[in-house]
Amino acid sequence: MPSPDFMVRFWGVRGSIACSGPRTVRYGGNTSSVEVRCGERMLLFDGGTGLRYLGNALAQDGQPIDADLFLTHTHFDHVAGLPFFRPFFDPKNRWRLWAGHLADGMTLRRVLGEFMMAPLFPVPPQVFRARMEYREFKAGETLAPGPGIRLRTATLNHPDGATGYRIEYGGRSVCYLTDTEHVPGAPDRNILELIAGADLVIYDSMYTDSEYNGYVGWGHSTWQEGVRLCRAAGAKRLAVFHHDPEHDDDMLDGIAREVEKEMPGSVVAKDGLIIRL
Ligand SMILES: [Zn+2]
Ligand SMILES: [Zn+2]
Repeated sequence: MPSPDFMVRFWGVRGSIACSGPRTVRYGGNTSSVEVRCGERMLLFDGGTGLRYLGNALAQDGQPIDADLFLTHTHFDHVAGLPFFRPFFDPKNRWRLWAGHLADGMTLRRVLGEFMMAPLFPVPPQVFRARMEYREFKAGETLAPGPGIRLRTATLNHPDGATGYRIEYGGRSVCYLTDTEHVPGAPDRNILELIAGADLVIYDSMYTDSEYNGYVGWGHSTWQEGVRLCRAAGAKRLAVFHHDPEHDDDMLDGIAREVEKEMPGSVVAKDGLIIRL
């Protein structure tokens, strides 16, 4: 039985750069942004351009917010929405921003400060009016972001590092793994351990296996590797995610048909898609 209060909503599903236009209108063109609800708690993952739409929905609701936003890493496509997230500008709100990939004394506050800085950006993070807390952890640690919620983390294989997450709530689990590169024929042990028996695995599927050879070292994986990992780890469903901006709606329809055949119940993520666990 699905737990009625555990759900995932996709607000941005692209990798690298936002892509609007008629060829991407059905799956959406926003970069990574995912909302997870565990009962009363809201956990957000990544702050890509999709975050702005989530922010507008929350601002319309008007309720005070006390929530956490976890970054896989701080590449531009995963943070570009942060300065445009309306709930950061409301003094009623309290936000904790988390990152687990930073090394050598680098802090999330500093990363954000350097990206929201002239002449790259007109205003600094100090324009946020919500109570903002910036927190670092080390990928591999387990966090407890709310009652009954366990958040396990693991290191992913990506330039400058990235963190994978497993959210456990009410006896169910969803994993969020982007951006990460596989080594063909050698399944990533960190990932196998993290996704063991998971109900849903959201996985970096930037390329197909046939495209992958042209992008070795770029830090991304394929939907076919997602299927192989889920099978090896006994995970139940795959959500193909972090689509290449060059993958248009027709191509993603084709992947959706293939992934459903390979692993029934699996989907290609699109903006607005809700999955209940
Ligand atoms: Zn990315
Ligand atoms: Zn990246």
